[in-house]
Amino acid sequence: MIYELPSLAYPYDALAPHIDARTMEIHHTKHHAGYIAKLNKALESCPEIRETPLEEILTDLKVVPEDLRQSVRNNGGGHLNHTLFWETMAPGCVCGPTGEFAEAISSTFGSFGNFREQFGGVALTRFGSGWAWLGLDKDRRLDVFSTANQDSPLMLGYRPLLGLDVWEHAYYLTYQNRRADYIAAWWNVVNWKAVAESYARLVALVGRAH
Ligand code: MN
Repeated sequence: MIYELPSLAYPYDALAPHIDARTMEIHHTKHHAGYIAKLNKALESCPEIRETPLEEILTDLKVVPEDLRQSVRNNGGGHLNHTLFWETMAPGCVCGPTGEFAEAISSTFGSFGNFREQFGGVALTRFGSGWAWLGLDKDRRLDVFSTANQDSPLMLGYRPLLGLDVWEHAYYLTYQNRRADYIAAWWNVVNWKAVAESYARLVALVGRAH
């Protein structure tokens, strides 16, 4: 499979002032595109897994020949992580989780406020480059955690629902070293409708797998 850069559902300036247009454009056309180019290059050399879905590969990286494993981990993770990142943001205020997803957030974290606090804390304290995540585990439980670099939640047995990129390239132009300000602003552009839909889809999928 040859991977291609997915187009965004909104223009680069749509998330401003929370995320500026230049950051969005560089992030999408340089960083994300770069991961895809390197992923395709790595997969060129291993025809035995070229047609295996990337989700499956990242769930069990041992299927990748050892000399290419780190590249597939970094660049395959980079591709999937960014694809989800773009899909779970949208312009305009969406107020928060709804329906069954909202109930799951409340029952797991106590309240939506507690969830935000926990997620924000994980995003803020991830040392160096990485991601903060809301994921669904094999028992269909929600959890908040972070990963380093471009590691995918799939590598830890989670299905990712919502991820926040805390690499400096995601926020430096507007926020410089103020990661906390970037995190606070990002909540304004979370596409909760997309996250709730993904929750419903994944709960059913994980349920069937049992
Ligand atoms: Mn990024």
